[in-house]
Amino acid sequence: MRALVKTLPAGLLTLALLGIARAQDTPVPETVAPGVWMVQGQSALGSSANRNFISNAGFVVTSEGVVVIDALGSPALAEELLAQIRRITPLPVRHVILTHYHADHIYGLQAFQAAGATVIAHRAAGEYLNSETAAQRLKASREELFPWIDEKTRLVGADRWIDGPTTLTLGGMEFRLQPVGPSHTPEDLVVYVPSLRTLFAGDLVFRGRVPFVGQADSGHWITALDTLLGYDIDVAIPGHGPASKSARADLELTRDYLVHLRKTMGEAARNMEPFEEAYAKADWSRFDRLPLFKAANRINAYNTYLLMEHEAK
Ligand SMILES: [Zn+2]
Repeated sequence: MRALVKTLPAGLLTLALLGIARAQDTPVPETVAPGVWMVQGQSALGSSANRNFISNAGFVVTSEGVVVIDALGSPALAEELLAQIRRITPLPVRHVILTHYHADHIYGLQAFQAAGATVIAHRAAGEYLNSETAAQRLKASREELFPWIDEKTRLVGADRWIDGPTTLTLGGMEFRLQPVGPSHTPEDLVVYVPSLRTLFAGDLVFRGRVPFVGQADSGHWITALDTLLGYDIDVAIPGHGPASKSARADLELTRDYLVHLRKTMGEAARNMEPFEEAYAKADWSRFDRLPLFKAANRINAYNTYLLMEHEAK
């Protein structure tokens, strides 16, 4: 390999190295419940080296076809997932349901649509899809994620937009599509399969780690988590990271963390106490040993402080 690399010009060298990465980063489905499969992206930022394989996708095989949840971060990844699905079942992919329209979950859509799948998402994604932000993001991705995202990669809307709770039945299996936004995004959707007690949770639940709250609407997010805590769940498949058999604990941890942020930062904002003081005096002892606490907590607290200031007005 080394000899080969030496003889290649710089551009081809890059492709050769990408080729190595590719072999290691292939989405290989693992089964998490009877007929339920997932592929797990890397916990990294999207890059040419990882082909934007940084999010999960799941699928359920029914007697009349396959339902896929989330479309992965590039068309090439989606093609590979389709090939993997064909090794498991001769049945076609009938539907792709999106938990939300973030780039790493949707850039693979065109491959599923070309394979004849119906794309289903919450109508609230329409605004983002038609926004300058989405167009700019795709433009940037065509450079940052080249060649996996290129001029041929496009934003794909849903074939079927849903406005409220919706039940989809395929092969006698029920899929409950539950809107839970605006939380992580306005269009958040979870998919619950009652007969398998399986939840596809998108980016609403973080497992054993401090979540990235970003600009999320944490008030709605808490309400959504409380809704999900009413479900009977054996397995939860998150948008990132491994599947969970302790969904209840994960849901509670994410909810309790958000509640704590809003309580401490909300008090500070109402009392017009400066952020630094409020942050220093808040009790983080329940969360400070969790992974990503150092990376995420301070910015989460600050964003929540701003949000609570805004809500107090
Ligand atoms: Zn995500």
